[in-house]
Amino acid sequence: MSETIKIGNHEVVHITEVRELRRQLAEANEYARKLSIKVTDQGVEIQRLQATLQRKQDAGDLIFEELDDKTPERNCSCHLFPPCHDCTNHAASREAIKAWKEANK
Ligand SMILES: [Zn+2]
Repeated sequence: MSETIKIGNHEVVHITEVRELRRQLAEANEYARKLSIKVTDQGVEIQRLQATLQRKQDAGDLIFEELDDKTPERNCSCHLFPPCHDCTNHAASREAIKAWKEANK
């Protein structure tokens, strides 16, 4: 079966090839449409994650300020009677403050 169409004077394209090209074009368009939806979805997901991260950052800042205010300067006397009162009460807070500063510099 050789249905043909003419383009200009010389080029002849089989109708079946045109149909196949149209089918491939439709497939490519559908693929592009799905990709576009996926990119949009990922954009929405990124915005959601950024908002979550910002809320956690804000909450972390509040905790940091509160803990920093309530944690005294180091006054260790472990060399006399370990573990000393200062370390027992404040070492964990100092570690947390240090970790927060490291993560936020
Ligand atoms: Zn100590």
